Amino acid sequence: MFTVKTISVIEMTMDSKARYRFRRMLDDLEDKRGRGTELISVYISPDTDLAKVIQQLRDEQGTASNIKSKSTRKNVTAALERIIQFLRTYSETNRKPPSHGMAIFCGNVAGREDIADIKLYWIEPPEPITIRMYRCDQEFVLEPLREMLQVKETVGLLVMDRREATLATLRGKNVNIVRKLTSAVPGKHSKGGQSARRFERLREIAAHEYAKRVAEAANEIFSQVSSLKAIVVGGPGPTKEDFLNSGLLYESVKRKVAGVLDTGYTDEQGIKELVSKAGDVLADLEILKEKSLMQRFMEELVAGGGLATYGEREIRHALEQGAVELLLVSEGLRKNRATIRCQNCGHEFQETVENLGSYQRQLTTRDCPKCSEEKLSVTEIQDEVQELLDRAEKFNTKVEFISTETEEGKQLQAAFKGLAAILRFKAIT
Ligand SMILES: [Zn+2]
Repeated sequence: MFTVKTISVIEMTMDSKARYRFRRMLDDLEDKRGRGTELISVYISPDTDLAKVIQQLRDEQGTASNIKSKSTRKNVTAALERIIQFLRTYSETNRKPPSHGMAIFCGNVAGREDIADIKLYWIEPPEPITIRMYRCDQEFVLEPLREMLQVKETVGLLVMDRREATLATLRGKNVNIVRKLTSAVPGKHSKGGQSARRFERLREIAAHEYAKRVAEAANEIFSQVSSLKAIVVGGPGPTKEDFLNSGLLYESVKRKVAGVLDTGYTDEQGIKELVSKAGDVLADLEILKEKSLMQRFMEELVAGGGLATYGEREIRHALEQGAVELLLVSEGLRKNRATIRCQNCGHEFQETVENLGSYQRQLTTRDCPKCSEEKLSVTEIQDEVQELLDRAEKFNTKVEFISTETEEGKQLQAAFKGLAAILRFKAIT
């Protein structure tokens, strides 16, 4: 009676395969709906005392007895009992939560009143859980896990005007202020006794000295970050543009500048302003990357040299020969790979299936291609993308996922049925 669906631990550094599995799992959980407010999400951080969580869930069970709807009350109580039992069993062999904590989702996922299908899913996420949460809702709370999927590369931040500059790095949501500099540029008006020309000259020298120090800091700090995705520069006036055009930055650093934005401040406050805008810059970079990958594919296709292919059959064929250099997979691709076996003669084959339910119905009236008996049945079902990723891995094929947000991404999903490939060599037909 007590079935627990364990979702395997995902590696700390998520490669595209692990990311796919994690995202797919979240998509599946997102589709689950309760009839009433009866789907329970529990987030447990690594340092949590499990006995306390169990106690809290017992208290919630007490509260649940006040729920008006009989079926909702029944489902919530049953789901809580299921979680408590699971945590009890878990605590028997583990003294503490896993090192990244755990997220538990439980409830009646049948989506109907007359059937109770209470399922429990638990996950150790790829990053530590930093919150504690108990929530009972019509759907599972997945946002804290979704956030872990967001781009985690480091971004360099620089805010400056002619008086002050602040350099920082941003990784995920963590901002690290690395250095602050101030200029020794004197004010606009000379003090008595100095000639205006001489004063202007001194101002220029001081301003250049300051720009040089900012550039040295930027060159040093941003060159050291090995996985620097981009640099975003901000500040109130034209000083930042002058600075970027001054030639003081290393070319390798300057190339990383992905956005120049106006901010009101040049201190921590200015960095905060930049951070709130850096997300858009990064999303744009991601989209640019996707667009350029698709463009590369289209160019190969138009060139007609046979080094681009699309469609499931063609791609499977090329993968088997190790001919695929880069596999482009639409994030919108949702299919299954079914293994079918004839119960009469033992003949086995595989097929790609979109709708499992209707497929299994029509299978019962289909003849075996070998013995012509109506004895076909599904023996295994795999997620198609997962299966293709496994194949790709064997031949060192690079895999990139393409969102459906861009024109090119939509084209991949619709015109190319979600799969495209750039080949190392022309596949043998
Ligand atoms: Zn047969």
